[in-house]
Amino acid sequence: MRLVFFEIEDWERDILIKGLDNYELDFYKEPLNDSFDIAKIKTAEIVSTFIYSELNSKIFDSLPSLRFVSTRSTGFDHIDLAATNKKDIVVSNVPSYGENTVAEHTFALILALSRKIVPSVENTKNGIFDQSGLQGFDLKNKTIGIVGTGKIGAHVARMAYGFEMNIMGYDPFPNMELQRRFSVEYLGLDDLLANADIITLHMPLNDKTKHILDGEAFSKAKSGAYIINTSRGGLIETTALVKALGEGRIAGAALDVLEEEAVIREELEVLSPNFPKENLLINSANNILLKNDRVIVTPHNAFNSKEALERILETTIENIKAFLENQPKNLVKV
Ligand code: NAD
Repeated sequence: MRLVFFEIEDWERDILIKGLDNYELDFYKEPLNDSFDIAKIKTAEIVSTFIYSELNSKIFDSLPSLRFVSTRSTGFDHIDLAATNKKDIVVSNVPSYGENTVAEHTFALILALSRKIVPSVENTKNGIFDQSGLQGFDLKNKTIGIVGTGKIGAHVARMAYGFEMNIMGYDPFPNMELQRRFSVEYLGLDDLLANADIITLHMPLNDKTKHILDGEAFSKAKSGAYIINTSRGGLIETTALVKALGEGRIAGAALDVLEEEAVIREELEVLSPNFPKENLLINSANNILLKNDRVIVTPHNAFNSKEALERILETTIENIKAFLENQPKNLVKV
């Protein structure tokens, strides 16, 4: 049985070797995508990746022995599920490892915006120890609109309640427990947009949610609202956000994820023959956001706490063992 892991750091390797000691394991630091020399892993039966891999039908066609994909993430928009379905390849994810972790990062971003933490620190490091230009705003009595009140959104609601914020939620499946415990008021998306001072996204990226915040949504948002995204970059139409910030309709944004962020991570991708030309516009819009003083970007780091990463590896090992015992779990389906 050959198991191949991609996007692996040295410390993760040690934990995986210990947890899967009966198997032949291969490790690669790089992602599995069209640039990887697939011949090296031709006989792989199990592949495990993080989110910068792009598991498309071409890759699946090149791995005839592949039976199982174990993504070490909650999101699975980097996997072509229609293609795995056709080939009877089973896919598992890590459905829960750090909902509090991502929610804590969400609040770190909200507070960084509300208290102007980034320019405050930059100023003091440059020897400027005064408050001019650094006035922030209170969270207490402000309205937060949580779009997607699943596992992470629920923790965001809990934290917002602690800050004595008014909490609005939008989700096709409202959670009455959140309504009861944290006074979350469920509304339609347009009403949430029109009323929230801070709009934060916590849902998966799929065909239905792609660009849920587009030009039209920004035009419906309360003037001066702030946007937070710790979910997936593709939920926001980046060019529309640049425009809404430019017009002042959106006061600021804090983003842990960017649309087509793999290109920002690895700039040379732009020169690859496979690079879709339509993504050049998104790439320029990302670069405009990165330079904007009213925008804070962290490098898809919301999940990255010691405790969360240990839980990811634990669940990945459990997922692989469960698959090998013919009792696959945490299955992801089309
Ligand atoms: P979850 O499945 O528990 O919750 C998602 C919620 O979104 C569900 O309640 C669902 O009903 C809702 N939803 C679906 N479609 C919607 C729509 N059109 N409008 C509003 N709500 C909708 O997922 P989760 O654990 O809370 O994670 C949310 C997302 O966070 C993941 O899909 C992943 O993309 C992202 N994430 C990011 C990081 C990071 O490091 N930045 C880490 C983990 C997860």
